[in-house]
Amino acid sequence: MEKILVHICCGVDSVYALRKLKEDYPNSQLIGYFYDPNIHPQEEFELRWIETKRVCDQLGIECIKGDYELDKWMEAVKGYENEPERGERCTICHDLRLEKSAQIAKDLGCSKITTVLMMSPKKDFDVLKEVGEKVANKYGLEFLAVDFRKNGGTQIMNKLSKEAQLYHQNYCGCIYGLFSQRKDLDFYPELVSFGKGRLAGSREELLFVKQIRLFAESLGLNCFEEEFNFIGWRLLSSSVKLNNDYIPHRVLPYSTSINGILRASVLDVKENSLILNKNNAEIYLTTDLNEPVLKEPRYITKPVFLIKEEVKVGDKLELQLKTEFNPSMKSQNLYVGNRNTFVDIAVFYSDTDSEGNQGYTLQDICYFIKNNKEKIEKGELLVVVYGSHLIGEIGKRFSTLHTQVFSEA
Ligand code: SF4
Repeated sequence: MEKILVHICCGVDSVYALRKLKEDYPNSQLIGYFYDPNIHPQEEFELRWIETKRVCDQLGIECIKGDYELDKWMEAVKGYENEPERGERCTICHDLRLEKSAQIAKDLGCSKITTVLMMSPKKDFDVLKEVGEKVANKYGLEFLAVDFRKNGGTQIMNKLSKEAQLYHQNYCGCIYGLFSQRKDLDFYPELVSFGKGRLAGSREELLFVKQIRLFAESLGLNCFEEEFNFIGWRLLSSSVKLNNDYIPHRVLPYSTSINGILRASVLDVKENSLILNKNNAEIYLTTDLNEPVLKEPRYITKPVFLIKEEVKVGDKLELQLKTEFNPSMKSQNLYVGNRNTFVDIAVFYSDTDSEGNQGYTLQDICYFIKNNKEKIEKGELLVVVYGSHLIGEIGKRFSTLHTQVFSEA
């Protein structure tokens, strides 16, 4: 049987393109090859891979995950960092990805190659065709230049991608494209990982949810994601000095930034709080310096610090704090099973603190799903993974489940 290698960059671009290729080449075997060394950061690469895998699994197409060869990509585009999108850097980027795809196609005994990049409205079809034909020629292959966007292809792709609840990235993939897209920002949220954890509303949290979903769907279980928006908060940096020495501390989520350094003296020490001579920050005394977990959502407030040091009247404090608010942060609840027929419900959540503690592991949840597969399949048990739980049980509050379930969970 003739084999066609399809270079794949993401789930969204492949959801219709692969169906179209299946239709156009019913007697050929399609092999997917996910090769995206251009993607920053690696979590984003993993997220696009998981979604690609989901699409391929649904269509029964084998898909190979290419290596994350970021160094190779950076070397190739050296000197073209400031090129605009669709410029010379993009041609090199296509060249690199298609050349590697052609090599793999040759190794696998394919006679044709193509790429789902031709689905993207942001890519230049003629450039892709030229690059594709050049590399295919070099390896004695035929390049299939299919304009997937034609005849309503883009609309069908949007519909299918919505139905499959695929992750829709908001940038092409590389840092240079992102730099030019976000010129006015001080920092690039897409490129920042906050610690080792899965903070509420982070890409790491979404990746975790998608990994659970991929696993549950591989067992044939129904999944549904419920996205919601909330005001996100991030701690960028903080420090507390007590009489000139830095001391361990925590900052309560939704504290606002301090401009410069806030210097204050302690006027009184109450049971669990300090009375300062300045009223634009609060300090509470605690015995536990784990990252704070909120049971209720908090409003945006003046800076609130937690410390466990012994403090006396007259002590001097120096506080610094930089935080970031995102008024349209997204997170999601994941349901595995039937939301209408269940009798029992098992509740998990997807976020952790910045150290990766105070949450579940992927194994915890996948193991539970596997062990209860039959009950879930019968519609008796519903597994819910709430998003953004540690900052006031936000996901649970946005859940559309019956209120009775909400109060029991
Ligand atoms: S903008 Fe997209 S196509 Fe262009 S170099 Fe960056 S990742 Fe590659």
